[in-house]
Amino acid sequence: MTGRIIDGKAVARETEEEVAAEVRLLGFQPGLTAVRVGNDPASEIYVRSKAKKAEELGLRGEQRVFPDSMSEDELLAEIKRLNEDPSVDGILVQLPLPRQIDARKVIDAIDPAKDVDGFHPVNVGLLHLGRPVLAPCTPAGVMRLIDSTKIAIEGKHAVVIGRSDIVGKPMAALLLQRNATVTICHSRTANLESIVRQGDIVVAAVGKPLMVTGSMIRQGAVVIDVGINRVGPELAQRLAHDEAKSRLLAKNGSVLVGDVDYARAAEAASWITPVPGGVGPMTIAMLMRNTVTAARWRRQ
Ligand code: NDP
Repeated sequence: MTGRIIDGKAVARETEEEVAAEVRLLGFQPGLTAVRVGNDPASEIYVRSKAKKAEELGLRGEQRVFPDSMSEDELLAEIKRLNEDPSVDGILVQLPLPRQIDARKVIDAIDPAKDVDGFHPVNVGLLHLGRPVLAPCTPAGVMRLIDSTKIAIEGKHAVVIGRSDIVGKPMAALLLQRNATVTICHSRTANLESIVRQGDIVVAAVGKPLMVTGSMIRQGAVVIDVGINRVGPELAQRLAHDEAKSRLLAKNGSVLVGDVDYARAAEAASWITPVPGGVGPMTIAMLMRNTVTAARWRRQ
């Protein structure tokens, strides 16, 4: 079997079109405010593209940028102001934050009704209770990707590799809610290979290039690769069988790969996400989805 590719860009576009259509029907403009502290170049790109996407879909996208020297109290005061601003429906604070600021305190200070990242403890609790919630964007996006294959989730054995608060744990909760039988693996899991091999659905969210090998994938499994890793010539040999990646690596000196050995896993999988172009594009699309949902819940 050769896996069919789950086209994350196409599913993200579809989601965004849905969001834009919903905004047109709302009768008001939902507002998303992205807060960035400091000059981390990756954060700068993420925040800018989130605000830009919001505008593109008819939302009001605002960036609030503060210097690296901002104190925790100053940021908490800014969050309070945004919580109280009726025109702001969604607040997101781009992580990481500078060392003097406790990210946990900041997340806890966001009004759960405006927490479009779904990281506030109230939202984490609601998610695990199976109640309506602003779910974290990356795992919510993965659910859409799995649904796009039309493969039923109910009754399937889903193996999630990774247990972070932003991907692995909410991923497992969302799959459980849809009646999958869920196994969560992590760095202390014994016999990882044999567990992953039982997965009808495998979600890899580790951050270790190519750790999920082809032989770990059961025939016909749906494979979702959340990992994004930039690798250099040190991986040339392990990528030798993957013509497309090898070509890019030779040309650019580095290449993006996931946690899954895509070329080999695709030989066993029924469906598989590429990196890039799989899970990545879904995250921003789901953020827009959450902002509109937050706006509807709060204002209607
Ligand atoms: P974290 O580093 O927070 O979590 C990684 C998880 O992987 C941990 O639970 C860790 O276990 C587990 N792990 C580490 N080594 C192993 C191993 N050898 N075997 C099994 N499990 C292992 O990462 P994130 O969840 O934040 O992100 C994971 C990946 O997804 C990264 O590559 C990140 O870049 C990417 N990502 C992509 C997004 C997208 O939009 N596409 C969004 C968010 C993340 P333990 O808990 O025991 O330490």
